Amino acid sequence: MVSSPTPIPATPELTDVPAWPGPVGASRGRLSPRDIDPDALKVVRKLLAGGHEAYLVGGCVRDLYLKRLPKDFDVATSATPEAIRKTFRNSRIIGRRFKLAHVFYGPKIIETSTFRTAPESRGDDDPLITVDNEWGTVEDDARRRDFTINALFYDIASNTVVDFVDGLHDLDRGVIRTIGDPVVRFQEDPVRMIRAIKFAARLDFTIDDETWEALLDTAGDINKCSRARLLEEIYKIFRGGAARRSFELLLESRLLHEIMPSYLALHRERLVEAGKDRPGREVDPILFELLDALDEHTAETQSVASNGVVLAILFAPLVDDDWSGAPRRTIDRALEELMNEFSVALGVARKDRELAREVLVARHRMIDLQRGSGRRRSTLAQRQHFHDALVFLGICVRAYRAGGSELQFWQRLAAQATRGPAEGERRARPRKRRRRPRNRGGRAAGDAGSS
Ligand code: ATP
Ligand code: MG
Repeated sequence: MVSSPTPIPATPELTDVPAWPGPVGASRGRLSPRDIDPDALKVVRKLLAGGHEAYLVGGCVRDLYLKRLPKDFDVATSATPEAIRKTFRNSRIIGRRFKLAHVFYGPKIIETSTFRTAPESRGDDDPLITVDNEWGTVEDDARRRDFTINALFYDIASNTVVDFVDGLHDLDRGVIRTIGDPVVRFQEDPVRMIRAIKFAARLDFTIDDETWEALLDTAGDINKCSRARLLEEIYKIFRGGAARRSFELLLESRLLHEIMPSYLALHRERLVEAGKDRPGREVDPILFELLDALDEHTAETQSVASNGVVLAILFAPLVDDDWSGAPRRTIDRALEELMNEFSVALGVARKDRELAREVLVARHRMIDLQRGSGRRRSTLAQRQHFHDALVFLGICVRAYRAGGSELQFWQRLAAQATRGPAEGERRARPRKRRRRPRNRGGRAAGDAGSS
């Protein structure tokens, strides 16, 4: 039998919402309050003091339980967005799809959302969610979430995890499982299929059999969701530190065949042309080396690669890199053409496409220019995209196991650039000192009081 955390009074302004009946699932798992962001704690305490229910929720509870560093801390509460806004002067209501509040502490944002209920479908045969803004109880809020491991609430008053969906059990066994019928949940919001893969890869979890079967059956629906959300989840997948495993799962589930058919066709063409076509091989194997290198980069630097670098990695194996003597315009046109179908289908922003192109070209220029003229080198080093180009060169050096000396050379140049105008440069061109106009008969400041 499970012990209930101390019941917290129902919110005054939500009179029609039934009072919280207490958790129906397990309520265990102690997290160390020391690991919780102090500002997130402040938000929860202040909401509780105002008579609302409030918990830490979602990814942060999951990550703390797994002893991983949470990316951010979210709060769920019975207070409406307007009540949250009134409670915190440092807050703002945001959201079009559904309203929630951001509470600001310097650059940090604590996302604070009101308990919501699972939205109604449109009533026809298509369960795709279109409206999503019905307030509910904490249990409703757990059940509308995507996976059991993402639906845990942390009650700071009793120091317990409140679990309505057996999420702790799934965390213990390392399983990704949708809440409710997986076919329905994936049809409601097809982006959840990519999220299932993202979490499985990132946490090194397996996907529950029923959830996986449903994913395979529903993969064909993936393009029903908005391109913008799809692309954002794809970028997240590549930046999340488990790009290789995610890519393998996207291939295995055939989601990738639905999302990027033209991209896979380009790989096929290249494999056939290069005589590297083998049974079961769908992409150039160097792509996996590049994704491994990207994951190593993410783990080592704890930084996220830009969208441009992600695109450059995806297209690097497809670039015909025999550019000797070709004018820049021709190279640009060839790269544009290569990325065009993919970019249009997914709505890739022009600036990300341009950055990918610059970064792909810069890699070759960096190798060619290492022994080139000093002036051309410093123009490249000063370019805005230089940092991204350097990240990409580093990833390519790992993946192709070549170009290490060029990388070191450019890293030294980058280090010099961040130190400001190089020492040598300052010595070569001494800054003109402004001389104080000579005070006739007077003294230099340093002489004051010497007499
Ligand atoms: P991350 O560490 O990547 O931020 P997260 O679990 O915090 O992981 P978010 O995308 O930040 O993921 O979403 C926060 C929470 O919102 C999730 O934990 C989940 O409970 C819920 N959620 C997010 N997207 C969906 C969705 N498409 N359907 C249902 N619930 C969702
Ligand atoms: Mg999050």
